[in-house]
Amino acid sequence: MSEKMPRNVVSVDVEDYFHAEAFSDVVDRARWDCYTSRVEPNTRRLLDLLAALNVHATFFVLGWVAERFPTLVREIAAGGHELGCHSYWHRLIYNLDPAEFREDTQRAKSIIEQTAGQPVTGYRAPTYSVTDRSIWALDILTELGFTYDSSIFPIYHDRYGIPGAPRAPFRFQTPSGPMTEFPMTTFRLAGHNLPVGGGGYLRVLPRLYTRVGLKRVQKEGLPIVIYIHPWEVDPEQPRLPGRLSSRLRHYTNLSQTLERFQSVLQEGNYTSFRESGLADTAKDFDFYEWNQHKNG
Ligand SMILES: [Zn+2]
Repeated sequence: MSEKMPRNVVSVDVEDYFHAEAFSDVVDRARWDCYTSRVEPNTRRLLDLLAALNVHATFFVLGWVAERFPTLVREIAAGGHELGCHSYWHRLIYNLDPAEFREDTQRAKSIIEQTAGQPVTGYRAPTYSVTDRSIWALDILTELGFTYDSSIFPIYHDRYGIPGAPRAPFRFQTPSGPMTEFPMTTFRLAGHNLPVGGGGYLRVLPRLYTRVGLKRVQKEGLPIVIYIHPWEVDPEQPRLPGRLSSRLRHYTNLSQTLERFQSVLQEGNYTSFRESGLADTAKDFDFYEWNQHKNG
């Protein structure tokens, strides 16, 4: 890999298989402790791969997980990786009110910081749920001491997305101070933004789609942000009931994902948000103003 290659970011959303939004209608949060957790061994598979490739990543950890598995959090930190916050309860932000969001985020941030012994400055929303209905969350993140967020998907999707939002990192002012957004990666095809390189898109869509999509992003000179969940590299995970569409999406190609993830990492220069230096490249963009007026 050439030192001149643009820096890309690899991120891991650390949660268990029963935390996924796809099963939120059949898995009650009050019963999370009744499920057999697999997050430790699954996260260790990712840690081993990253160590073998000598790559640092950003791990956005669910507060619920950090509280129960402090050793795992310390292993992540000891590996030179960055710790970020993935909320405490994995609830969609637009279903919360600002007070609930503040309380959940503050709780998770404190647990992760105290366990890891390092400051947590980055946030990844559960199910990318920073949308038109929850833009206010970015102000609360700034107020709580976060300097960046990586939760906005500039696409149309039934659960998330802000179509038309910038595709490159941008910096903007919130009432509480400056915030940098690292949007989830998309490439342009026939006038549309198409998601590429992370989670279900990496796992379910053909390898050729990922390869072509990521090449197009690099050709544009944009940084890539890829992401993965520990449960995505666990073909043996217990099967949960749920909607057929959820099960299809969640269980497809689990046995191939680790290898797919590895080949993506080997084809680019990946690191954590912290070490990427990308925050310094973010362009100023009046995001609140744009969001308010984009619909005329
Ligand atoms: Zn998640």
